[in-house]
Amino acid sequence: MSFRFNFFIDENENNEPETPDKTDLQLGSPKHKQESTGKSEQTADAVSDSSPRPGAAKHQDETPSERKSCFKAAKEHDVPDDLNKVLENKVIETESDLYYIKMSVVEMMCLGGGDEEGIISKSVSSHSDLIPGVYEGGLKIWECTFDLIDYLSEAEIQFTNKTVLDLGCGAGLVGIVALRGKAGKVHFQDYNSTVIDKITLPNVVANSIYKGSRDDRKVSQPPLKRPKKAECLPDVLAKCRFFSGEWSEVSQLLLSSNKPFSKYDIILTSETIYNPDYYSALHDTLAQLLDKNGRVYLASKAHYFGVGGGIYLFEKFTEERKVFRTSIVKKIDKGLQRCIMEMAFKDSS
Ligand code: SAM
Repeated sequence: MSFRFNFFIDENENNEPETPDKTDLQLGSPKHKQESTGKSEQTADAVSDSSPRPGAAKHQDETPSERKSCFKAAKEHDVPDDLNKVLENKVIETESDLYYIKMSVVEMMCLGGGDEEGIISKSVSSHSDLIPGVYEGGLKIWECTFDLIDYLSEAEIQFTNKTVLDLGCGAGLVGIVALRGKAGKVHFQDYNSTVIDKITLPNVVANSIYKGSRDDRKVSQPPLKRPKKAECLPDVLAKCRFFSGEWSEVSQLLLSSNKPFSKYDIILTSETIYNPDYYSALHDTLAQLLDKNGRVYLASKAHYFGVGGGIYLFEKFTEERKVFRTSIVKKIDKGLQRCIMEMAFKDSS
C-alpha cells in the first residue's frame, strides 16, 4: 500500500567515505522491490518472508588479520527547522501499522543529487546492498526488523519513559515502535548520513504525524486534512536524536559530548551482526552505552552466507568477552532460521 505524500505540515508556521573494499556481495531477496535502480534481482514484496542477504563476500577468504574494520566519523544530525521539506514529494508505504517512505523513489531522486556520500550510485553500480565500510545496508528494510517488532509486542516490552537506542537503524522502524510505546527518549544511529537524512528522519516525521489514531493508519489515501504541526511533531521530535558514523565513533561522540547523556535502558538492533569484522566495535559500543540494568534486543539471521556472521558466532564472541549474558528468546524457523537475542550485563539485576 502506498501513496504520495505531498501535503504541508503547516504553511503558516513558519568524511569522506573510504575507498570501497570491492566485494561481490550479492544480496538475496530484500523486503522491497528495487524498481528502477537496476540493482540485484529483488523480487519479494514488502510482506514476504525475505530480505537482503549477503551472498558471496570476497573477505570470506581473508584471514582475520587481513580483514578491514571500517571507519566513519560520527556526526549528530539536526532536525530541520522546515519539516515541510522532510516529507515533500515522498511516497509513503505502510506495513505492520507503520509508515515508511518508499526507498526506490528516494534513490531515484538522490541519483540526481542530494546523496553527498554517493552511496546510492555506488550501491547501484556495484549491484550490492552492502559495500563494507562505505554503505552498510540502511537504505533497505531488512526482514528481522519485523521479527523484532513482533517480539517486542509479544513479549510486552515496556518503553514508557525509557531511554532507547535504535542501533544500525536504517529506516528506524524499531525506534519508531519505541516512540509509540511512549519512550522518554529515542536515539537513532546509522552508519550512513544519507540514510539518516533521507530515510530515518522522514520516517520518524511520517509516523509522528499519524501517531494518533490506529484507524487513520489503515487508510490507503493521503489524509485530506493537514495535521497541525503543534499537535504532534515538536514533542515527538524533541525526544529524538539522530547520529551517523561508525559505532565506536558514535559511542565516543555520545560519551564525550557536552549534551547530557544517560545510558540506554534498551538498545534495539536488527541485522547488524552479519560482518564478524565489526563484532568488537559493536560489542564494546553496547557495553559502553547500555545502562547497568539495561537490555539489548538483537534480531539476526542464524547465518549470513558470504559475509560469515550470524547469531551463533556473535553469541560465541560475546561469551568469550565475558561482559554480557545472552539468551535466544525467540527462533523463527521459516527458511533460513532467524532469532531474537536478549543481552544483559552479567552482573545486572
Ligand atoms: N536495522 C535495519 C534493518 O533491520 O532494516 C538496517 C540493517 S542494515 C543491514 C545494517 C545496519 O547496521 C546499517 O544500517 C548500518 O547503519 C549499521 N552498521 C553496520 N555496521 C556498522 C558499523 N561498523 N558502524 C556503524 N553502523 C553499522
